[in-house]
Amino acid sequence: MPDRRQRLSEIPGMDIILGYEWVQRWLDVLGRMRVKRVINNELSEIRRRILNDDDYEFSPEGFRESCVIALSSASRSSLRHVINATGVVIHTNLGRSLIADEAVKSMAEVASSYSNLEYDLKEGSRGQRNSHIEDLLCTLTGAEASLAVNNNAGAVLIALSALAKGSEVVVSRGELVEIGGSFRIPDIMELSGAALHEVGTTNRTHLYDYERAVNDKTSMLMKIHPSNFRIEGFTLSPERKELAKLAHEHELIFMEDAGSGLLVDGDVIGLPANTGEISIRSCLEAGADIVTFSGDKILGGPQIGGIVGRKKYIDKLKKYPLARALRCDKVTLAGFEATLRLYAQGLYDEIPTLRMIRANPDSLKSQAESLADELSRRLRAEVRVVETEDATGGGSCPEIKLRGWGVSVKHKTSGAGYIQKLLRGIDVPVLCGARDDEIVIHVRTLQNGETDILINALEGVFNA
Ligand SMILES: *Cc1c(COP(=O)(O)O)cnc(C)c1O
Repeated sequence: MPDRRQRLSEIPGMDIILGYEWVQRWLDVLGRMRVKRVINNELSEIRRRILNDDDYEFSPEGFRESCVIALSSASRSSLRHVINATGVVIHTNLGRSLIADEAVKSMAEVASSYSNLEYDLKEGSRGQRNSHIEDLLCTLTGAEASLAVNNNAGAVLIALSALAKGSEVVVSRGELVEIGGSFRIPDIMELSGAALHEVGTTNRTHLYDYERAVNDKTSMLMKIHPSNFRIEGFTLSPERKELAKLAHEHELIFMEDAGSGLLVDGDVIGLPANTGEISIRSCLEAGADIVTFSGDKILGGPQIGGIVGRKKYIDKLKKYPLARALRCDKVTLAGFEATLRLYAQGLYDEIPTLRMIRANPDSLKSQAESLADELSRRLRAEVRVVETEDATGGGSCPEIKLRGWGVSVKHKTSGAGYIQKLLRGIDVPVLCGARDDEIVIHVRTLQNGETDILINALEGVFNA
């Protein structure tokens, strides 16, 4: 015990540490409060070690090193640029869709200047923030009316809450999905105050299952896109048209959570034909009264939740108090409007998500070849061009597989897991795939201007 106390007493106090020369320069970079906090964390760690490990002793040199690492890490933005070399286009953990240049311009302009966000310039009176996107969304989907809220989870919540609170909503057991993290239909349903009425089985739900479930408390039939989840084999679910007809015969609302939200038919953006993805327009044409979708999945815009459908229902949502709680920020609206304009113009390749999904395998191959050439010249490692399986993205639209190309790099001694860890720890972290003991750089998701950063990063790790 006395020995521990002795070792603890060798740790200098905060005032002394703040006077060290090597600490001084961080005071300007981070401010005194943050420097103290970082150093305190390091000190607690050292105390913890002394108490747990009889052989651990305070070393001024080691303390200084770990403080400098912690201080320099605190001096970088926490949320920052990473290189996505995974080939997963809509990567939920890496910020989903990249925003089109045109949209970024609009966002910057609206962020740094006053705007007519809620001002009607013609009338000189108060306007609606939703007005900036409503007509475009209606044009692109054929809807009577539309609304944008914070995200699709919010869109589903407000729609259920405003249209089905206190009544029953019929959903197939095959569609009661959880979508990445915390979005679960039963939970959202409960939160909205609507009662979930499950029908059918996990693999098969018949039209008559829905029909039998309808009673005088029912207000809605709901269809949900199963997103990253697939049941295969002996399966059945009624056609949208049949569900819509059934709903309307009983004066019920037919609502669909479309998940990803295709604004154009899948083939237009190069999705393989067998994916079964249909556009929002087709959902409405099949008779859906309300369709909700995400803005930052396959649509390729900023994070919003789109709601389109019949005017009488959308009007109710606009007046519902949750609309205020879930409203979109002006910067987001500017980006969403600009993205919708690109759709209206048919400029799909200006939208990064669509451009990467549509990318031609031959041009991906030649991109991989020239990257491999450069890497073989610069790295002391084994470099090969390889075919890859890329993906549109998890938890977004379905897990659609895309044929792609990449470069594999094999370290002489270290395994892929260790190399991936080193690549995550640098200034602009690189996230890549791995197979066996090689890392794999998928070229589909590399952006203009990232090649040099990537090559330098790999040099740092492989030639060290
Ligand atoms: C992704 C998804 C959601 C959640 O959308 P966010 O925009 O992330 O809130 C809801 N439903 C389905 C079917 C989805 O695929």
